Amino acid sequence: MDKPYLKDFTEEELKTLPEITPAYRARQVFAWLHRGVGSAAEMTDLPKSLREALDAHYVISKPAMLRRQISSDGTRKYLWGLADGNCVETVLMHYAHGVSVCVSTQAGCRMGCVFCASTKNGLARNLLPSEILDQVIFSGLDAGVRVSHIVLMGTGEPLDNYDNVLRFLKLVGAPGGLHIGARNISLSTSGLVDQIDRLAREHLQITLSVSLHAPNDTLRRQIMPVARAWPMERLLASCGAYFEETGRRVSYEYIMIRGFNDTPACARELAAKLAGTGAHVNMIRLNDIAESPLKPSTPEAVRTFQQILQSSGVNATVRRRLGADIDAACGQLRKKQLDTH
Ligand code: SAH
Repeated sequence: MDKPYLKDFTEEELKTLPEITPAYRARQVFAWLHRGVGSAAEMTDLPKSLREALDAHYVISKPAMLRRQISSDGTRKYLWGLADGNCVETVLMHYAHGVSVCVSTQAGCRMGCVFCASTKNGLARNLLPSEILDQVIFSGLDAGVRVSHIVLMGTGEPLDNYDNVLRFLKLVGAPGGLHIGARNISLSTSGLVDQIDRLAREHLQITLSVSLHAPNDTLRRQIMPVARAWPMERLLASCGAYFEETGRRVSYEYIMIRGFNDTPACARELAAKLAGTGAHVNMIRLNDIAESPLKPSTPEAVRTFQQILQSSGVNATVRRRLGADIDAACGQLRKKQLDTH
């Protein structure tokens, strides 16, 4: 029988486990787990019988560090090996406002975006809440820093692994654990509209980022299969409702692809759709991926595009590049690993 992963449980749930008596021990167990112990034996202030029972009946996960790359700007990129042989990538970045960790939510992805390395080999499986959490815990421990921010922008579509992602958010925000608040967390989605509607009803204070990447369905469908299922009009309507429901402005990601979606006409079309919605556009340089005909926009095209958005009253920024010397865009390290094994 497969043992449950102890780190998947909230503190409240730990209290109800038959091994954890008296219930107040749950608080200690929870704290130890989120500090990254590799076994209950290491929980030194607990009775030996409790430690042995936990190790006998549960898994206390600890991913293997298969690879680590450290950029000249301090960005760290990890490839973690999971218990079943799958692997996932995580990136840790230093900003003026703190330390941000970019986590993967699935091993692989089934969204099929043409520009993305993470989806090339399809979806292997969803990650458990504990496997998403471990990426934060063990990257922070390795770098010797306190992680203050999280972005769910690594490999995978977070809203395609909805329940586990929501549980992860609950675990990582818990005061007895890492205690990273929702306002310091961004979730990026390719635009699963029904799941955005569901997320709005949770009333979380996280930032929702939507990968738009095109000003209309004709272009969007050429690069993102999800656009065939959900027209942009429906997507933008749901984002508007998300803002109304949660009070949190939606942010749109827009990869700048040379000669495809980066023309002044595209900028005007996008501005017309977003003006007055309070939206923020995050323009992203396309990371070259092998065997792709898509190329990043020129710096002039990026500047012009941004100016057109801003002069229409749409707030637009160009994402800073970190870790450029270590392939820090998620998906690339895992793909290399899969391709060579
Ligand atoms: N599935 C989610 C989250 C993971 S992708 C989503 O689609 O939003 C995180 C971000 O990286 C998305 O905006 C995605 O479009 C972007 N991305 C993927 N491949 C990229 C590439 N080659 N260059 C730049 N950004 C890329």
